[in-house]
Amino acid sequence: MTSGVPPERGQRAAAPLGLTLVATPIGNLGDLSPRALEVLGAVDAVLCEDTRVTGQMLARYGASAPLLPLHDHNEAEMVPRILDRLRAGQRLALASDAGTPLVSDPGYRLVRAVIAAGLPLTAIPGPNAAVMALTLSGLPPHPFLFHGFLPAKAGPRQADIATLRAVERAGLKAALIFYEAPHRLAEALAALAEGLGADRPAAVARELTKRFEEVRRGTLGDLATHYATAEALGEICIVVGPAPEEPTGEADLDARLRDALKGASLRDAAALVAAATGLPRKQVYARALEIARDA
Ligand code: SAM
Repeated sequence: MTSGVPPERGQRAAAPLGLTLVATPIGNLGDLSPRALEVLGAVDAVLCEDTRVTGQMLARYGASAPLLPLHDHNEAEMVPRILDRLRAGQRLALASDAGTPLVSDPGYRLVRAVIAAGLPLTAIPGPNAAVMALTLSGLPPHPFLFHGFLPAKAGPRQADIATLRAVERAGLKAALIFYEAPHRLAEALAALAEGLGADRPAAVARELTKRFEEVRRGTLGDLATHYATAEALGEICIVVGPAPEEPTGEADLDARLRDALKGASLRDAAALVAAATGLPRKQVYARALEIARDA
């Protein structure tokens, strides 16, 4: 399969062979890299979530490209067609409405299929809200865990947070990064304060790269109190600092095991807690068995 009118050779060669993941701005149009623009203008087609959004973005740079929709609802059906195009030698780009494709955005199934088919795959790196929020948060930047969006409903959200806490109890010490919608920010912060601890240092990064960019830093408790009354507008990332070191007395071992058992099998929970505490695996496993039996 080929595109209707073959692009000029020089123009076509500006795009890599196969599929290129192209990061686009998260608000500030000045953040599209020259290489990203070159590739988007030279490919046979740009796969995008919303053809209107990407079409408008390209128009603002005085560029255009054939656009094909690729979103969560049509990805399964589109993948074989896209692979056919790539096998026929087409050069394609994948762009999100904003930021880096695949990061809380469509494209993962396509990327897996392209890899499995042995077709060329590359990326033009660029803006990503999570990494920008992390770097501005003032919190220890690594290791970090990108969680993306928490569930919208209270029950599943609490369960997700409890799993994170269980993994922390088992030893994870990482900054946690969440995406959140403005109308859910207050309840998300309250749930995080309750589930992870109101004293945990955190940051709320809003409208990054845009005119009203703001990073508010404080404890989860402070931030939850602030946003309980202050309206949060725009696009938002939450960054939570790593869990504090905790002593491992007997009571603490039990608490860690109980938390770990909520999200892992007995064997995995014991292994995680043994690794986190440095206690002998046999001893931790034996205690995990007792706790499981009592429960
Ligand atoms: N793929 C994108 C990326 O690389 O950042 C993220 C896409 S996700 C569908 C959109 C979410 O990312 C928003 O709801 C918000 O949580 C976060 N986000 C995107 N742009 C942002 C910005 N300018 N400032 C703060 N958060 C932003």
